[in-house]
Amino acid sequence: MDYDAIIVGGGIIGLSAAHKLATNGKKVAVLEKKRPGAGATGLSGGLIRVFDPEIELAEFAAESYNLFNTNKNIPYKDSFVKTGALYVRDASTRSETEHIIQILNQKYSYYSELLNKDQCTELYPNISWQDSESVIVVHEPNAGYADPLKISLSLVDKIEYLGSDILEGTEVSGFVSKSGKIEAVKTNIGSLTAKHFVIANGAWAASLDCPESVRSREIQIHFFQNSKVHPILIDETLGGLYARPCINGSSLVGVPLLEWDIDPDLKRSISCAENTRSIATQRLSSLVDAPLCGGRRGFDGYTQTNQGYIKKSDFKKNLIWAVGWSGCGFKLAPAIASRIFDIVA
Ligand SMILES: Cc1cc2nc3c(=O)[nH]c(=O)nc-3n(C[C@H](O)[C@H](O)[C@H](O)COP(=O)(O)OP(=O)(O)OC[C@H]3O[C@@H](n4cnc5c(N)ncnc54)[C@H](O)[C@@H]3O)c2cc1C
Repeated sequence: MDYDAIIVGGGIIGLSAAHKLATNGKKVAVLEKKRPGAGATGLSGGLIRVFDPEIELAEFAAESYNLFNTNKNIPYKDSFVKTGALYVRDASTRSETEHIIQILNQKYSYYSELLNKDQCTELYPNISWQDSESVIVVHEPNAGYADPLKISLSLVDKIEYLGSDILEGTEVSGFVSKSGKIEAVKTNIGSLTAKHFVIANGAWAASLDCPESVRSREIQIHFFQNSKVHPILIDETLGGLYARPCINGSSLVGVPLLEWDIDPDLKRSISCAENTRSIATQRLSSLVDAPLCGGRRGFDGYTQTNQGYIKKSDFKKNLIWAVGWSGCGFKLAPAIASRIFDIVA
C-alpha cells in the first residue's frame, strides 16, 4: 500500500495530523509502537488555556483554541469543561502582559483581562493572595480542560471511518532513503512506503535522529481529594504550580520535575506528593490536609526554547518533524495539525 502520508506516533499530535489529512481526502497510516495515546497524551492533564509569556506560543495556543471550538469535524469539543483560568506572573511584567492580552483580544478574539487584588480576593476567596502586591493575574474566562485520551480514541475511530489505517504495535526503526527523499520506513512488520512522512513521536524523537535537540523530561501530576474545591484552573510562572478542579471534586496538581534524559519507556511510579502539596498549599491552602488520591508520571519531549519543532527536513524533502511540545502539546494539537497539513498539501 502506497500511502499519501505515514505518521509515526499515535499521540495527540500524530492523530490530529492524521485526522486533518484524512478529512481532506488523503490516505494515511499512523504507525504506533504501543497503542494510541500510550505516550504523554494518555497521561496529560488536558489543560487548555492560551496566555503565555512567549508571544509566539500565546498566538499558537489562541489559534488552536479557536480550532478546538469551531471545527465541527474535530471531536475535541465533546469533552471540554470550561472552568476559566488564572495565570499568575511577577508584577514587573505588567506592560508586556498587557501587550500580549491586547494581541490575543484583537487578533484572535480571545478575551482575557488583568484582575486586581480586590477582584482576586472577592472572586476567589478559597485561593491565597498574600503575595498580591508582587504579582499580576491574567484571567481567561474561556479556558478549561478536556480529556486527551478520550479525544485520541475518538480521533482513531474517525480516521478509520475515513478509510485510513491505525497500525498499532508497529515500531519504526529507521528510514529507506533515495535521491534526497524518504522512500519507506523500516518497521517490525516490514517496510512501508508513502509520499510524505511525519514524525510525531514525542519524547522518543532522538531515537529517530531528530536534527533538533529534543530531550525527554518527566512530568508528574497528583490528585488530591478536596472538599473546598478550587473553582478555577490556576497556573503560575513563579514556582511552576498548575492545578485544576476535576469533575469528581478532587484537584489535579502539578509542579515541575527536573529529571531529564530518562528512557521514556521506563515505567516510573508517582512520588514526591508532599513536595507537590507544599508548593500547592501556598496558593490553595485547603490542600494542606487533603488526602492524596493518585497521580500520573510520564514524559514529554522538550526543546531548548520550549517552542516545539515543526519543520520540513532540510535534507529529505518529504520528511516533516513535529516533536518537542514541551508540556503543552495537547492544547496546541489542532494548530499543529493545521501546520502539518499546510506542509504536506
Ligand atoms: C503528566 C502530564 C501532564 C500533561 N498536562 C498537559 C496539559 O495539561 N496541557 C497540555 O497541553 N499538555 C500537557 N501535557 C503535555 C502533552 O500531553 C504532550 O505535549 C502531548 O501529549 C504530546 O503529544 P505527542 O503526540 O507529541 O506525543 P505522545 O503522546 O508521547 O505520542 C508519541 C507516540 O509515539 C510513539 N512512538 C515513539 N517512538 C515510536 C516509533 N519509533 N515507532 C512508532 N511509534 C513510536 C509512542 O509510543 C507514543 O504513543 C502533559 C504531559 C504529561 C506527561
